[in-house]
Amino acid sequence: MELDALFYSHFSAKPVVKACAPGRVNLLGEHVDYNGGPVLPAAIDRAVNLVAAAQTEPIARLFAQDLGMATAFRLDQLEKKVDLDGQPLPKWAYYPAGVAWALQAAGLPTPGLEAIYSSDIPIGSGLSSSAAVEMVFAVTWEVLGGWQIDRMQMARLCQKAENGYVGVNCGLMDQFASAHGVAEHALYFDTRSLYWEAVPLMPAVALVIADSGVRHSLSTSAYNERRAACEQAVKLLQQYLPELHSLRDISPVEFAAYGESLPPEIRKRAEHVVKEIARVESAVAALKTGKKQSFGALMYSGHASLRDLYEVSTAELDTLVAIAHDLPGCIGARLTGAGFGGCTINLVEESQAPDFIQSLQQAYHEKTERKAQVYLCKASNGAEATRI
Ligand code: ADP
Ligand code: MG
Repeated sequence: MELDALFYSHFSAKPVVKACAPGRVNLLGEHVDYNGGPVLPAAIDRAVNLVAAAQTEPIARLFAQDLGMATAFRLDQLEKKVDLDGQPLPKWAYYPAGVAWALQAAGLPTPGLEAIYSSDIPIGSGLSSSAAVEMVFAVTWEVLGGWQIDRMQMARLCQKAENGYVGVNCGLMDQFASAHGVAEHALYFDTRSLYWEAVPLMPAVALVIADSGVRHSLSTSAYNERRAACEQAVKLLQQYLPELHSLRDISPVEFAAYGESLPPEIRKRAEHVVKEIARVESAVAALKTGKKQSFGALMYSGHASLRDLYEVSTAELDTLVAIAHDLPGCIGARLTGAGFGGCTINLVEESQAPDFIQSLQQAYHEKTERKAQVYLCKASNGAEATRI
């Protein structure tokens, strides 16, 4: 049933806003955001959709269609993290509540609302279902509140919601991509200067996302360890390069000269970051000059680096990439997201994508006895809300 029709099974007011915010996939530039480096995500054609009515009281009444759950909370007591009955707010409601909290802190009104929302972004697969939920509420409040801010500021406020209210230490890439997506384009995003640019993807190429079906619980601690290794590398390299603030500041040539001095494990981590940053720059140049195979080769070397130097891949992700590499029509493949399970991203000739998907799933099942969920996606536009 359409979301508009479902709205009336939960609420009686007349809906006035419709909104939509996409998930994203990162094509290249992994584990470089917290080192000030550039990333290359694309918003995808999987999104959170929302329908909302305005309320005069400062209360949010929400129905999360996919979870089959409802909650209501006061928008003027967000710090308490409780619902109208004084019970702890359910975790899923922290995302919309956190957005209201961050918007209010920036002086932006978040009027009361009744809203239903639903998404076809798989939850917890690394396609940023959480950022899409945040963005869909931000653009909804923008319309209901009668204010306007630029999309970068909105992305930063959503990141603040996730960092400060939900308590997840994420970078800005996910919210950035959901806010700025451009159909048929990748998004070059410099996480230090916040410069960004939409770069046309090759024509007739599909984004095939394959979920390995594996999630590792140690991912948070390993992620923190990787961040610490990068900070340690910067500290040690400052002996030679006092101007160095982050691994973004050191070129592959300088790294070849000074990297030797680092302890082996830290050297491997830093080498991944330094070379991955260079790969993003080369990949953008390849896209701009139509060098499809060069772009694909950069994806494969990015994967090898995440596997061998950064050590965040898994046997299942390596298997998916190895299978993809040998299939007709595959331009490039790599793990996407933080690693330790999750998905691979494959660039595949559109005409060969259906066969590619079938062969990938079959071979993955034969080799691992696991089922890979596969999503055939297109690069899409960013979040938007309209009055209805
Ligand atoms: P992801 O990698 O998909 O962003 P996260 O763990 O960061 O995974 O965020 C997932 C959380 O976001 C869910 O546990 C839920 O709280 C919220 N969320 C995502 N999609 C939905 C949805 N369709 N409906 C309600 N909440 C959602
Ligand atoms: Mg998330």
